[in-house]
Amino acid sequence: MTRILLVEDNPQNMKLASVILRKAGYEVIAAADSDEAESSIEAQVPDLILMDLGLPGKDGYTLTRELKRRPRTASVPILAVTSYAMKGDEAKARDAGCSGYLAKPIDRLELLRTVRSLVETDGDGGGP
Ligand code: MN
Repeated sequence: MTRILLVEDNPQNMKLASVILRKAGYEVIAAADSDEAESSIEAQVPDLILMDLGLPGKDGYTLTRELKRRPRTASVPILAVTSYAMKGDEAKARDAGCSGYLAKPIDRLELLRTVRSLVETDGDGGGP
């Protein structure tokens, strides 16, 4: 089963995204901030990370850059999710090492399509 680490500090957004992903057959692990995300990754490296860029404490850009520098997590695709509808965010996210970008509010089909495209290229044959 494809394991997705969902890093999101907003409980409603977390709930929405995890329901969508679980219904689609993914295993979802929740982390409310960067510290929780790092503990989870330490225990088990996920197949994909959905990264809210606006997090309390260490933000998603910083965490993404750090994960991309570490050999253990460098190849894990990171999908950026942000509510900042600001121009330049996508470029900034890709610059930090994100493989994809989604703007909030989350659109179910767009989320699933993007997630599928990112986990299908990792070669483990996982995913629903
Ligand atoms: Mn946030």
